Amino acid sequence: MTHPAPLGAPLSLFDSLSRSMRVFEPIDPTMVRLYSCGPTVYNFAHLGNLRAYVFTDTLRRTLNWKGWPVNHVINITDVGHLTSDADEGDDKMEAAARKAAKTIWEVAAFYTDAFKADLAALNITSPTIWSVATDHIQDMIDFARVIERGGATYELPSGLYFDTSKVADYGRLAGSRGPETVGRIAEVEGKRNAADFALWRRSTEGERRQMEWMSPWGPGAPGWHLECSVMSMKYLGRQFDIHTGGIDHREIHHCNEIAQNQAFTCSDASGANFWMHNNFLVDRGGKMSKSKGGFATLASVTTKGVHPLAYRLLCLSAHYRSELEFSPEALSAALTRLGRLILAAEALRETAGTPDWLRVVEETGATKGAPFAYQRATVEQGLGTKALDLLARFDEALSADLMVPQALPLLETALTEKSIPAEERLRLVASMDLALGLDLLRARRIDLRIKPDGATIDEEEIERLLDQRQSARAAKDYAESDRLRDLLAERGVVAMDGAGAMRWDWRIEL
Ligand code: AMP
Ligand code: ZN
Repeated sequence: MTHPAPLGAPLSLFDSLSRSMRVFEPIDPTMVRLYSCGPTVYNFAHLGNLRAYVFTDTLRRTLNWKGWPVNHVINITDVGHLTSDADEGDDKMEAAARKAAKTIWEVAAFYTDAFKADLAALNITSPTIWSVATDHIQDMIDFARVIERGGATYELPSGLYFDTSKVADYGRLAGSRGPETVGRIAEVEGKRNAADFALWRRSTEGERRQMEWMSPWGPGAPGWHLECSVMSMKYLGRQFDIHTGGIDHREIHHCNEIAQNQAFTCSDASGANFWMHNNFLVDRGGKMSKSKGGFATLASVTTKGVHPLAYRLLCLSAHYRSELEFSPEALSAALTRLGRLILAAEALRETAGTPDWLRVVEETGATKGAPFAYQRATVEQGLGTKALDLLARFDEALSADLMVPQALPLLETALTEKSIPAEERLRLVASMDLALGLDLLRARRIDLRIKPDGATIDEEEIERLLDQRQSARAAKDYAESDRLRDLLAERGVVAMDGAGAMRWDWRIEL
C-alpha cells in the first residue's frame, strides 16, 4: 500500500538552483525520481564522501516515510574524472592504476566493492540502480553528438569542447562562486571560454591509455560531466525530481551537467526540479579530500573499535547544509549517544514484549532497505494522542528541509517518556527509525563492542579475569579486585560495575 499524498506536513526542501526553500511535490506521485552523484572509484571513500550518502539516504528515507516510493540512481565514476574537477591534470583512474600496477578495471572493481560495503555498514539503503559510467560510453557519444549538432561545441586537437557561451544563464547554480573563477583557459590550448569543458578527450598521439574508445572525435574517453547527464536522463527522464551531490559539485560539475542538459533538450530546463547539496565534513586541516592523502576512512575508525553507526549518528546530529567538523571527541560523543539510544531501545523492547508487527519486521528485515510505506502505516496503528503529538513534531522536523538534529531528541523522548505506554513507544521508535536508519529495533548494546585492531587479549580471558574479580569483591578483597581492574585496563579493557553482558567494554582510543 502506498500513499498518494504526503503523510503529515508538506515537505520543504532547499533547492540550490533557485536558492530557495520550496514545497516538494513529485512529478509523478507514484514514484519519486532521485539521482545522486556517486564516487570516483580510484581510492577508498573517505568519511566526507560518506557524509554525502548518509545525507542522500536520509532524504530517500524521508521521502519513503512521507509515503512516496523512490527510484534512486547512484552512478559509479570509473572513467573521465581528472585530478581537478575542471579539465586539468591526469585521469584519476589511470593514475591510480599506474601507481598500483593494476588494470583500471581491477582498481574500479576493488573500490566499488569497498564503497558498497561502507554503505551497507552505515545502513544506507542500496539505490534502485547502480549505473556504471563505462557501461554507458555509446550513450555518452550519442548524447555528445546531439549537442554537437545543436552547435554548442567546438573541436580542438585535444577533443570536443562544450562552448559555455552558447547557453544562456550558464553557471547560475554556482552563483558568484561561478565556474569562471575556477576554469583556466591556459590549461587547454584553444579553449574559447574559461568555463568550457571537454565532452570528449582525444588520446594524445603516441600515448596508449588503458581506457580508450573510438568516437567521431577520434580515440579517447568521455569528459567526466557527461556521464551524469546521460545516465540520469536514461534512467529517470529529461526532468526528474531531485539531483544530489556535495557542495563542491555546485561549482563546476552540476553547472556543466545543467548546460549539457539544456543544450541536449534545447530548453532551459535544468534536468531536475530540485538540486540539493550537502555541506562538507571538515577536519582541522579543512575540507576532507581524497587527493590530500592521509584521510580518514570508515575502516580507519572501525578498526579502532568504533561501530559504523556511530558515524551515521554523527552525521545525523548536524543539518546536512551545515559544515560538520570531524574530531575524535565528536565521534566518541556520537558513540556514547548511540550506546544510550540502543540501551534504551533494548529496555523498551523488553518491557513492551514482541508484538506481531515487530515479529514481521524481525523476520523480513523490513527496516533494512525495503520500501516501507506499508510498514509505517502498520506500526502507527492505535497510537494515542500523546504519541501522535510526538510523531507530528518529528514529522515537522523532517519536513523542514530534513532538520534531523531536531528530530533526534524526539526519538530520545519516544524511547524514554514514561507517560506514553511502552507498546506505543515501541511503535513510535519503529516508525521514526524507518526515517533515521539507526537499526534500533534490532541492535543490541553488545553489538557496539568491536574489538580494536591490536587488542592483545581475547574475550575468554577477559571473562575469566572478571570472574576472578567478582570473587575477590565477594570476599571483600578490594586490593585484588583493583589489581585485576588495572590489569584489564592495561590491556585496553574497561571493567564496569554492572552485571550481565555489559560488564566490560573495549577502551577506544582515537
Ligand atoms: P568523489 O568520489 O570525489 O566524486 O565524491 C563523492 C561525493 O562526496 C560527492 O558528492 C562529493 O561532492 C562528496 N564529497 C567530497 N568531499 C566531501 C566532504 N569533505 N564532505 C562532504 N561531502 C564530500
Ligand atoms: Zn555527477
